[in-house]
Amino acid sequence: MTDIVVIGAGQAGAALVAKLRVLGHEGSITLIGDETAPPYQRPPLSKAYLLGEMDEERLWLRGHDFYAEHGITLKLGHKVSAIEPITRKVMIGNDVISYDELVLTTGSYPRRLPTNIGGDLAGIYTVRSLADVDAMKVEFVAGRRLVVVGGGYIGLEAAAVAAKLGLDVTVVEMAPRILQRVASPETSDYFRALHKAHGVKILESTGLERILGEHRASGVRLSDGTELAADFIIAGVGILPGTGLAEAAGLAIDNGIKTDEFGRTSDPHIWSAGDCASFPHKGGRWRLESVGNAIHQAETVAENIMGANVVYDAQPWFWSDQYECKLQIAGLNVGYDNIVTRGPDGDSVSFWYFLGNTLLAVDAMNDPRAYMVGKRLIENGKSPAKAALQDPLTDMKSLLKA
Ligand code: FAD
Repeated sequence: MTDIVVIGAGQAGAALVAKLRVLGHEGSITLIGDETAPPYQRPPLSKAYLLGEMDEERLWLRGHDFYAEHGITLKLGHKVSAIEPITRKVMIGNDVISYDELVLTTGSYPRRLPTNIGGDLAGIYTVRSLADVDAMKVEFVAGRRLVVVGGGYIGLEAAAVAAKLGLDVTVVEMAPRILQRVASPETSDYFRALHKAHGVKILESTGLERILGEHRASGVRLSDGTELAADFIIAGVGILPGTGLAEAAGLAIDNGIKTDEFGRTSDPHIWSAGDCASFPHKGGRWRLESVGNAIHQAETVAENIMGANVVYDAQPWFWSDQYECKLQIAGLNVGYDNIVTRGPDGDSVSFWYFLGNTLLAVDAMNDPRAYMVGKRLIENGKSPAKAALQDPLTDMKSLLKA
């Protein structure tokens, strides 16, 4: 019987081990994680959990019982220090675990602000893990001043929570607009206006020159020389794939742990899925940072370990909650050259990304119907007529017949 070891007890690792048992894998399964909580969902960390509307157990994907009942050995609080691909062993310090098949679901880790500008001072937080958020939660007290460095989704979600709790919030973004890396100018404009309406100050085209303070951050100096006082700082400046173990083991790396279309790395007995894995898709190499990808890719790898030989067919989707807005995204907008806007209709509006007449992606704000229709169209490789899409009288469902 095959012994399977999975390194990284997060969203992808949890989905993979569960799927292996569903598929009838009878050998041993060991899921190793360096955090102390059982695998949990990260999205609420910058949303309901940070707001204090969700307790820790509700973050857990499954309780401890699930793993015990399914014969899955969950080793929490253990950091894997090395992999030996030739002898098929995993090292946790001096402890050795042997495997027949190994899966790396090591996720990603946040970029930190450079230490030479004060990035190592106390009072600077990143938003990746439960421990990160538990540490910063005590700072969220009405009236305190927060500077968020980086106007991506996670920084903006943290800013929204802080504003809701009555903090004085400034977001500093180096690029000409917030969300520039991931969204259209239309979507950036929407969220800029939303934040401004909630009293958040957004400074774009503004770099960070230095964090002020001796032992603890007390403010920031910006690229235009302005100094802003702050009681604490959140750095939301992106993440890097967790490739360290794979690289040290000699596996191929290409913006993530390089896999083939089945999720297999350059070693035939080592697989990878989730934030840390890059995979071939639509003529390019993709690495996605989302819950949907982590689950779907991990389940595909489980099937392939069981011999199915199915190609991972990524169908990207994502969401973000800020104030009263629920943003849902389907598809990937890379390479778009034109945008079609539907709405606004009340508080619903959607932005549709096209390359020529081909639909690539949709950003739907408070419009689950637009999201569902867009997702189905993209998954089926269909593109709606733009005039019909823009026409408020068009029934969304009729677009599916495009
Ligand atoms: P993770 O869930 O990060 O799991 C990897 C695990 O591996 C971690 O626990 C890590 O500590 C562990 N690990 C790494 N190295 C080792 C080692 N050597 N030994 C043992 N363990 C190790 N996605 C969405 O789709 N929608 C959202 O709204 C959204 N919001 C988010 C908000 C926040 C604050 C964050 C942080 C992420 C959000 N995401 C969202 C992204 C989503 O959570 C990730 O894409 C997803 O968690 C990736 O799953 P994963 O299993 O690849 O990585």
